[in-house]
Amino acid sequence: MDSIEKLQFSLHGKIVYIFIAILFFGANCNAQVKIEVDPAYRHIVSSEKLTLPRGEATSIELHSNKFGDHYEFRYITTAPIKIFLIKQKDIEDENPTPNFLLHQTLIGSGAKTIQVPANNQYAALFLKNENSYAADTYIRIDRVGKRPQSSRKNIENILNITIDALSRTYNLPSIKIIAKPCGEVNAFSTPNIVICTELIGDLAEKGTIGAIHPILLHELAHSLMYLWGIGDYSNEDLADEFAMMLMSISAPDALNDLIAWFNKQDSKSEILLKNINASKHSLSKQRAENARKILQNPNKLLEKWGKLMHPHKK
Ligand SMILES: [Zn+2]
Repeated sequence: MDSIEKLQFSLHGKIVYIFIAILFFGANCNAQVKIEVDPAYRHIVSSEKLTLPRGEATSIELHSNKFGDHYEFRYITTAPIKIFLIKQKDIEDENPTPNFLLHQTLIGSGAKTIQVPANNQYAALFLKNENSYAADTYIRIDRVGKRPQSSRKNIENILNITIDALSRTYNLPSIKIIAKPCGEVNAFSTPNIVICTELIGDLAEKGTIGAIHPILLHELAHSLMYLWGIGDYSNEDLADEFAMMLMSISAPDALNDLIAWFNKQDSKSEILLKNINASKHSLSKQRAENARKILQNPNKLLEKWGKLMHPHKK
C-alpha cells in the first residue's frame, strides 16, 4: 500500500480522538498558524550499511505507484558491485534470460535515478558481489515524486487537528508549519515548523501515524517556549513533556503510537548518531519510558503547563 493511502486508512481509526480533542479544548478557529504542504514528496525506502560476502547477492523490491514516483539510488562501495534491475514478471517466471532494466557495475560512490515501469507491480534491484573478497557497501534508496492537491490536503488536515484543538483555548503566535522533503526522518522548529515528508512516510509505514500529533506538539513546544519566553526553548525534555502531557489528556492512542514508534528505533545506530550529531534528544527508549509515565499521571504537568500558558489563554 502506498504510504499516503496507509495514512488515510489509519486516520480513520483516529477520528474518535479528534472528537475527544475538540471536546477537551472547546470551540474556535485559528488564523495565526498557517499550514502548508509542499507538492514535493520524498520517502526513505532504505538506508543501510551492508557487508556483502564474496559471491553473495541481496535484493530489494521497488514498487511503482499511482503517483508515478521514481527512485533515487545512492551508494558508496569499497569494492566493485554489480547491480541488476529485473521486472516482477521475469522473477515470477524464473526467466533465465531476463530483460534487464538496468545492468551495470558500481565503483566508489554515486547516484542513479531508477524508474519502475508503471505496468509492473514491482521491479527487484539486485546487488551482487562478484569479487573474491567481501565488500562493504552503503546504500540509500529514496522514493521521490509529487503529490496532488487531494493528498496534500489529507496531510494538511491531519496537522490541523492538533493546531485547531490547541487554538480553541490559546492565542497561538503567527507561525508557519510546512510539510516538505528534507532528506531525513525528522522535524524542526525555527520557530516556524518543518515536518519532513520522510518522517510522515516512516510513521505511516510503521503503522504509527498517530505519532504525528505528539511530534508536531513537540516542535510547537519549542516554538511557543521561544516566542512566549516560557522555559528553555531548546530543552528537548521540556518539549517532550508538553507534547506528551497534552496527548495524555486528549488523544492517548496517538501517544501510544509515539511510544511504539520510539520502540522501533534501532538503539545502536541511535547511540552512534547521537555522538556524531551531538543530539540533545534523549534516546528513544528513554523517551518512550517518559511518555509511559506521563500517560499514567499527566495531572501535575497539566497544572504546571496550564500556569505557564495562562497569559496566552483566550
Ligand atoms: Zn526537539
